Amino acid sequence: MSESTPSTHTANEFDLLVIGGGSGGVASARRAAAHGARVALVERDRLGGTCVIRGCVPKKLMMYAAKFGRELPEIAAYGWRMDNATFDMATWQDNKSKEIDRLEGIYSKMLDSSGVTLFRGDATIVDAATVSVSGNDGVQVTLTTKRLLVATGGRVNRHAFPGLEHALSSDDILNLRHVPKRLGVLGAGYIALEFASILRGLGSEVTVFYRDHLPLRGFDNSTRTKLAEALVAQGITLRPSSSMKKVEVRGDTTVVLAGDMAYEFDAVLNATGRSPNVEGLGLDNIGVKTGKDGSIEVNEWSETSVPNVYAVGDVTGRMALTPVAIAEGRALIDNLYTGTQKTVNHASVATATFTMPPLSSVGLTEERAAETYPTLRVYETEFRPMKVAFAGGTTKTYIKVLVDDASDKVVGVHMLGDDSPEIIQALAIAVTMGATKAQFDGTIAVHPTTAEEFVLLREVTRYVPARA
Ligand code: NDP
Repeated sequence: MSESTPSTHTANEFDLLVIGGGSGGVASARRAAAHGARVALVERDRLGGTCVIRGCVPKKLMMYAAKFGRELPEIAAYGWRMDNATFDMATWQDNKSKEIDRLEGIYSKMLDSSGVTLFRGDATIVDAATVSVSGNDGVQVTLTTKRLLVATGGRVNRHAFPGLEHALSSDDILNLRHVPKRLGVLGAGYIALEFASILRGLGSEVTVFYRDHLPLRGFDNSTRTKLAEALVAQGITLRPSSSMKKVEVRGDTTVVLAGDMAYEFDAVLNATGRSPNVEGLGLDNIGVKTGKDGSIEVNEWSETSVPNVYAVGDVTGRMALTPVAIAEGRALIDNLYTGTQKTVNHASVATATFTMPPLSSVGLTEERAAETYPTLRVYETEFRPMKVAFAGGTTKTYIKVLVDDASDKVVGVHMLGDDSPEIIQALAIAVTMGATKAQFDGTIAVHPTTAEEFVLLREVTRYVPARA
């Protein structure tokens, strides 16, 4: 139901004003318009946000390009002759740009057909009900609103140590027209490892610097170890326990100073994390509470400390994942306009790191599960998939299933291997529903597949804590 009678409003009065045209903002705006609200959305850049324009989507398209290269030796074993295959980054870049333009067009049409009014420019919050937009066309407008939603996302963090202005961001990597011969990667989170794998697949010599002993802090330790091994097997140089001090430009090279050493590269990727995009928004004008990193503090209903002001997605620093931002936005809007009381369960979100091979997880890590449950059954398997073995490859797939011994409930699933993002998405349904190991075992396998291993794990690898 609409809260408003359109005829009583001027063109710049809204029920909901959304700042940010990324995944969370667009999904929220469209949902609110579908509920009959008069909605405006302000975006200064392209529609689609980080995920569509400079994140998940182009990254995956680049990953496909790298994967074709990685499969060339396998292709030969299957009888195909692909001698003298070469990769032309500029062709990929041109085709990627066309695809992103197409997707942005879809976002734009979807907003338009939902009846959301789009303002292109920089938004500054004047007070909880007033936003000033400095339009990209040079025109300044003042909008008023009953409710305000901030969904401005995040951007690359450049203050981990000095000289990061000389390093490329993930945005820059996605716009390259040539593959750098030597690439240094700073950090070992999602972005670092995905681009390390991809650029290695495209032919770069890649070195990854990180301060922990294993990459991907926060993931299950066994999968972190296996992933590190897989990255090294691909020819990536890992520099764990690195103390990164500075990035410098010396002539044509970019130099990473770490420990007592200087390492030279043709390009360096800064993947030391992202910060909430709040600069210039005017949050101080309404006194909204923010965290140390500038992220907007919200409760489980995505309400900020200021009445009628809400925030969803990366800007809240909860979980920087597109589907989470969309779910947070839709839950908020349904609650506001239809009286539901939906929340998003951030604990059971499945996730995939698109490395090569990809690493995918749902539920608890073994370390966290061991703290949570008195006795844990750990099931593991590692094998060379049929496709790899046939071609004489060595890349293994690793699977781990964690079960609470008392209830038989599956509390964590981890997989490092091809197709793991697709497999984990389906398994996430079972894990979220509270499936037991007996129910996994009672499921008939689809043969021959890799995923069948999940219903064929009979032997407990170990108990945690260990049994006498
Ligand atoms: P992450 O938080 O995943 O990784 C940041 C990395 O930078 C870590 O290795 C961290 O090390 C390191 N780091 C941070 N500060 C410093 C410092 N001062 N000195 C040295 N190293 C430092 O961030 P990303 O930027 O990779 O990704 C941002 C978010 O985007 C992710 O959290 C994820 O939610 C999302 N994302 C999701 C993807 C997916 O779903 N496939 C893909 C890409 C991004 P340490 O561990 O030691 O703190």
